[in-house]
Amino acid sequence: MPPAFDPATQQALAARMRFYRDLGLTEFYRRPVDPALQAQLAQLTEKTLGTQSTLGAPSFPQHLAERVGVNQAHNQNSGAPDLVSETWEGNAPPDTHQEHPIPPRKPINAPPAIADLVAPAGRAAALQIIRDEIGDCTRCALHAGRNKLVFGDGSPNARLMFVGEGPGADEDAQGIPFVGKAGQLLNNMIAAMGLKREEVYIANVVKCRPPANRTPEPVEANTCSPFLFRQIDVIRPEVLVALGATAATYLLGQRQPLAGLRGRVHAFRGTRLIVTYHPAFLLRDPRQKKEAWADLQIAMRELGLKPPGQG
Ligand code: URA
Repeated sequence: MPPAFDPATQQALAARMRFYRDLGLTEFYRRPVDPALQAQLAQLTEKTLGTQSTLGAPSFPQHLAERVGVNQAHNQNSGAPDLVSETWEGNAPPDTHQEHPIPPRKPINAPPAIADLVAPAGRAAALQIIRDEIGDCTRCALHAGRNKLVFGDGSPNARLMFVGEGPGADEDAQGIPFVGKAGQLLNNMIAAMGLKREEVYIANVVKCRPPANRTPEPVEANTCSPFLFRQIDVIRPEVLVALGATAATYLLGQRQPLAGLRGRVHAFRGTRLIVTYHPAFLLRDPRQKKEAWADLQIAMRELGLKPPGQG
C-alpha cells in the first residue's frame, strides 16, 4: 500500500468527516464528468499547449487512481481512459448524451410492526428475553471486533429514552452505553433535565463497536435495529431522544440533515421523538450546546419536567 496522507492531515480529514456526519451529511458522491465537456477541455488544452491532452488519459499515481476509481491497467491498454465509465459502469462505452446514473442510496429497512404493550412489571423480563435472543451475536460483521456487546442501560420503565449511534472504545470495554467522554456529557445533559441516569434508558442503533468508531454501515444498522425497536416497544418511553444523525436516520427511516429534523416533535411508534446533536459532536463544537439544550427543553416540556431549581 502506498503511504496515505500524513497523520495530521488524516486526523483533520477524519474530524471534518465526523463533523459532516454529525450534521447528517453522510454520503458524498463523485459526480461523473460530462464526457462532452471532457472532450472540449482536451481540445482546448491541445490548442493552447500544443500538446496531447492528458485529460483523457490521466497518469495518476496508482494510489490516487485507486482513490478516484480509475482502472489504470484499462486506461493504459485502451489509450482512451474513461473516468466516467470506469467509475460508475465498469467498461461500458461512454454515453455522451445521457446523465450517468448515480448509484442508489443504500436502503433503510422498514421498521418492524409495533409489538404488544408489556405491563410495567414485566418489562425487565421482556428486555432480558430480547437480550437472550441476541445472544453471542454474529449476525453482522461488527461482531468480529467486539469485546462486549452493549445492549442498553437504565430503567425498563423509563419515561425518557436516548438512542445513540453505537458503542465506542469505553463502551466496548465495559458493555454499557455512553460511559466515555460523550457519556459524561450525556450524564450532564440528563442531570440538567432534573433526572438521574438510572431513571432513563439508553441504547444505540448498533450494539457492537464499529471499527475506529466509524458510522455503522446500513447492513449493520439494519441487522441490529430490529432489536432496538423491540427494546423501545417494551419500554414505551413517553419521549425518545435521537442523539445525532445515525440514530435519527434509522429511527425515523429517512435520511435528512439534522437541521431539518431538530426543534420539533415527531410522532414515532405511538410515542414522541425529538432529534438533537450527538454529545460527541457537542464536545467537538460546544457552541451547539445551546441548540441541544433547546431540544432537550422540548423533551422536558413533553414530559412535564421543569429544570432543577425551577419548582
Ligand atoms: N457514542 C454512541 O453513539 N453511543 C455510545 O454508547 C457511546 C458513544
